[in-house]
Amino acid sequence: MNYSKVIAIDGPSGSGKSTIAKMVAAKLGSIYIDTGAMFRGIGLHLNEKNISVGEIEQISRELDHMKFEYGRSDDDLITIDGRNLTSDIRQHHVSDIASRYSKIPLIREYLKNFQQELGEKKSCVMEGRDIGTVIFPNSYCKIFLTATDEVRAHRRQKQLAEKGESVSIEQLLKDIKQRDERDSQRELAPLIKASDATEILTDHYTIDEVIEKILEIEQSLQARVS
Ligand code: C5P
Repeated sequence: MNYSKVIAIDGPSGSGKSTIAKMVAAKLGSIYIDTGAMFRGIGLHLNEKNISVGEIEQISRELDHMKFEYGRSDDDLITIDGRNLTSDIRQHHVSDIASRYSKIPLIREYLKNFQQELGEKKSCVMEGRDIGTVIFPNSYCKIFLTATDEVRAHRRQKQLAEKGESVSIEQLLKDIKQRDERDSQRELAPLIKASDATEILTDHYTIDEVIEKILEIEQSLQARVS
């Protein structure tokens, strides 16, 4: 089998994916790619243009014409039509916007092509919901990170507080459950563990311990691609 060198890290929000994927990439000298940021950026852009989820023709036109740029730096991750959306996409309400637009086949296809092109160019750690199942199903190293709802809600609360946003645990639990349900039940590319992914429940591990585990798994799978 022809394996892809992309390390695929999937899982629901609050599972620790972003922090962990970023640090794994740094340890391996690879590039870190945050696909959630892309869905957030496009969702926010369409929403601000008042193009709703049902307006497929307008969405198609916008995707054809907009200039979508990813990842010039951490502060300049998502730029659409010259506007840097990197900070705006982290607001809590944008999670829901991203999740609603992410079920649209046209948007998934657009980002699938974009992500595959990025991943084929350089060795990278790509993080999302469908990297191991749809974007790089031949990835040599697939990780599925999870955590219980309560742990995820507390992690989200801390993340948002660091950005100056205060949301109650009750509200976050409700939002997480709703988003999980939507992400895992959509028809196209649902959030699901790939059959050959290693699942890690992160509740009782430190970030460093999870990174250590992933690096061990990666090492043991290296032989397949070298
Ligand atoms: O990972 P993050 O929470 O930033 O993702 C925001 C939303 O984008 C998710 O809830 C999901 O609906 C969507 N998403 C997706 N596929 C990905 C990454 C994110 O559908 N690969």
